[in-house]
Amino acid sequence: MAFDYDLFVIGGGSGGVRAARIAASEGGASVALAEESRMGGTCVIRGCVPKKLMVFAADFPTAMADARAYGWRLEAGGFDWPRFRTSLHEELARLEGIYRANLQRAGVSIFDQRATIEDAHTVVLADGRRVRARHILVATGGRPWLPEAATAAGALSSDALFDLDSLPRSLLIVGGGYIASEFASIYSGFGVEVTQFYRGQQILRGFDDEAREHVAGAMRARGVGLETETDVAAIDRVADGFRVTDSQGRVRVFEQVLYATGRAPNTGGLGLEAAGVALGPRGEVPVDAHSQTAVPSIHAVGDVTDRINLTPVAIREGEAFARTMFCATPRAADHDLVASAVFTRPEMGAVGLTEAEAAAQGPVEIYSAAFRPMHSSFARRDDRAMMKLVVRRVDRRVLGCHIVADGAGEMIQLAAIALKMGATKEDFDRTMAVHPTMAEELVTMKAPTRST
Ligand code: NDP
Repeated sequence: MAFDYDLFVIGGGSGGVRAARIAASEGGASVALAEESRMGGTCVIRGCVPKKLMVFAADFPTAMADARAYGWRLEAGGFDWPRFRTSLHEELARLEGIYRANLQRAGVSIFDQRATIEDAHTVVLADGRRVRARHILVATGGRPWLPEAATAAGALSSDALFDLDSLPRSLLIVGGGYIASEFASIYSGFGVEVTQFYRGQQILRGFDDEAREHVAGAMRARGVGLETETDVAAIDRVADGFRVTDSQGRVRVFEQVLYATGRAPNTGGLGLEAAGVALGPRGEVPVDAHSQTAVPSIHAVGDVTDRINLTPVAIREGEAFARTMFCATPRAADHDLVASAVFTRPEMGAVGLTEAEAAAQGPVEIYSAAFRPMHSSFARRDDRAMMKLVVRRVDRRVLGCHIVADGAGEMIQLAAIALKMGATKEDFDRTMAVHPTMAEELVTMKAPTRST
């Protein structure tokens, strides 16, 4: 059977691009990739990258207040959103160009259009062309999911946040996950009056309870109007924004409303089921440890598989797939002890088990410290950092590390190496402190705060 390509990748995001480049440049495979939107995918175009640049932009009011406390004479100024937005989009276009150039340099054929699957080896392009491939990789990512009432009222999803014409005066954010909480901090930093509704008891479900409490308290202290156990009962478009009735019956008008109520795998109309791949309950593509579906020639990586929905995970999955299939060096992505950071203000970094998860497995010792960092203390800012180690009593192994502090994302990356290597509390203790830093607290916590 003749094939046009060894590999056809659908989706030019983190996972798809990595797989295509490795298969072509290191595996010598003939590879094509189709992308219906912009090269780079969610992370580069409407996720991690623009989000982090907005985090940096939103940090300046605090930095300027700190600068004054440190003796700098500064003139008050305002934030020019359109100017920042222009620079932001120039940067995204630059990054998109790099992604495209890297694919071209590897010899990958690019189709800037939608592709769907017809059968185990056939892809149909939007312009009607049919392409036959030995292997097909689905790397179509995810898309925001909003309740119907929110869509009907015209509420925003995170996709729209990077293109707003102007900053709203007031913003309601619905949800308590990564995206809702990060944008609550960002817009609050821009000076927007932010209200955040979360239907449960505490935001950032799945993270360590003590760290969640700490983040939520600090977000409130910095001006985010966080309302827990509160949901939207009704939402209507009105002349000056959205009229929202909450679950307690209160009625308020917000200029803009953002729903960050989760993301769903992007599999609609892709043709997977007709090709023999039954989708999971959330529309995800079920795969084995090697990212192979029930149809041996069809694979899937990244958010579309709904395993751990993070860019670095998609990249590792894409790489493992390409090396296994085309480089004769089989491997599976390792989904154990994946660290992550939530870029709220303050930032949270986490790796391993939460206190509750570890305690459910057996006796633990908890080492936890909350303190005012030197930088904030001098600036008379009431910020407190939190460092926490969850230690298994039987063998002293550190099962979890949770940090809430400026730079927590940077710190947790390094702590993750120690945890991955199986470090014990004694390994942390015999590591000399770096002084004066916040992270030194991780190696100087002597007595357990509590144990079970
Ligand atoms: P999450 O699944 O993290 O959070 C969704 C939030 O919306 C939860 O608080 C959920 O509440 C709430 N929710 C869901 N349905 C409803 C509803 N019908 N009404 C009201 N509230 C609702 O999704 P996100 O969109 O925040 O993020 C998607 C994924 O993207 C994350 O899981 C993460 O993997 C990734 N991501 C990672 C980032 C990072 O690494 N820094 C940044 C941004 C995204 P409940 O808790 O009760 O279910």
